[in-house]
Amino acid sequence: MPPSPQSVGESGTNYDVIIIGAGIIGCAIALNLARKGYRTLNVDTLPAAGYGSTSSSAAVIRTYYSTRDGTAMALEGYHSWKNWRTFLKAEDTTDLARFVETGTLVMKTEANNNLERVLSHADALGIVYEHWSPEKILERLPGYNLERFAPAKTMDDDTFGTPTGGHVPGGVYFPAGGYVDDPQIAARNLKDAAVRHGAEFRFNTRVVKIPVENNRVTSVIFENGEELRATTIINVAGPHSGKVNDMLGADPGVAMRHRPLRQEVVQVKPPESLGYSREGLIVSDNDIASYVKPGGGGHLMIGSENPPCDPAEEVDPDDFSRDLSDRALTYAYRYSQRLPELGVSQHPVGVADLYDATDDWLPIYDRSDIDGYFLAIGTSGNQFKNAMVAGRLMTALIEYCAQGNDHDEKPLQFPLQYVDHTMNTATFSRKRELTKESSFSVLG
Ligand SMILES: Cc1cc2nc3c(=O)[nH]c(=O)nc-3n(C[C@H](O)[C@H](O)[C@H](O)COP(=O)(O)OP(=O)(O)OC[C@H]3O[C@@H](n4cnc5c(N)ncnc54)[C@H](O)[C@@H]3O)c2cc1C
Repeated sequence: MPPSPQSVGESGTNYDVIIIGAGIIGCAIALNLARKGYRTLNVDTLPAAGYGSTSSSAAVIRTYYSTRDGTAMALEGYHSWKNWRTFLKAEDTTDLARFVETGTLVMKTEANNNLERVLSHADALGIVYEHWSPEKILERLPGYNLERFAPAKTMDDDTFGTPTGGHVPGGVYFPAGGYVDDPQIAARNLKDAAVRHGAEFRFNTRVVKIPVENNRVTSVIFENGEELRATTIINVAGPHSGKVNDMLGADPGVAMRHRPLRQEVVQVKPPESLGYSREGLIVSDNDIASYVKPGGGGHLMIGSENPPCDPAEEVDPDDFSRDLSDRALTYAYRYSQRLPELGVSQHPVGVADLYDATDDWLPIYDRSDIDGYFLAIGTSGNQFKNAMVAGRLMTALIEYCAQGNDHDEKPLQFPLQYVDHTMNTATFSRKRELTKESSFSVLG
């Protein structure tokens, strides 16, 4: 029997659940809880839903991950994007974010073991894919140079751009995948759906303190001194999640390191011959450590897949530069290795924002050592696609703990709805060892 909202909430509280953050994941959690009748409040420092790191997301929706549970979660997430309007139960006239299904191509390399593990997960979960030969890749991406360039380098390396021998042996095309055209609107869609179920949101308001009594959270305190009580508080503060944990009057027991890492994504105009503006295609190219996606207006967005030569840039989330640097230029030049016709502007345009990255690049969806304090953090640049699943998972976890289960000893087993798979949520534990199978990159 799931607990009633009353057993998660308590009389004398203002809300059952206070959610710190109104990004895509905070809003998805609100929608799921509100649908089950919980009294929720999201609080966000910024003026509207999805204005934090969500707004800079590449919003790529793909179904390849390094772990079985990660793959299953992404496949489940794909289904919610595919059925976005139905999922939201939105009126036909409501303006919604659009899922653009381009398919995704992943290059085979020695470093990713020709995708052997990824494909074993795909086979186990019934994910459809096609092996593409170099000839097939060239048909779809005319003008591509498939010489090998690995290992990736920065553009100031003397050997940058010099082929390292041989060719990329082919790739794997996953037809189920694409991108969401406006991640901020997607967050707003979730927020609006949550509000229709009674959820409340407060913007332009910063939580500054989270008091704890007898090892249980009691409330949140805002910078104007106002205090609101709730039985359950969830940290969904994205790159600020470490700062929010520091506001607790006790140690939440997060053993897995996570930190705000600055990332740049550069926009380029591809040559007409690529036909990219017509077809688009998301490409993950481990050989040049880059991912590429359509960026609107016929442009391409290029990001890094975090090779060792692109060192992690840990910053203060309240004080970092949003200007592009030589990193963005390096990414554009890396892509010009594939597309020699690409013109690279010396004044690159794009975005610089933050991942809340864990050391194994998988998220933390968990309770904490403090009763009533939950974590949906460490989303590592790859959890936009999973927001709706995370919303359901966090709701199930809160209920599981409210029923008196010891999630640390006996982790919640979470059945998916569209995919025939039950996730062992220990995979997202705050106390886990580094996940050995991880790509240790944004690919998760
Ligand atoms: C450049 C980039 C590209 C990405 N590309 C992809 C991709 O292609 N595919 C994918 O799946 N994922 C991608 N991601 C990751 C994905 O976007 C994030 O995992 C996701 O948006 C995180 O959502 P969130 O709700 O947890 O955090 P956020 O959107 O960061 O929201 C957290 C909110 O908490 C608020 N907050 C913080 N502190 C406080 C406080 N003290 N009081 C009140 N409010 C507070 C902030 O204002 C913020 O709005 C990308 C991320 C970036 C940065």
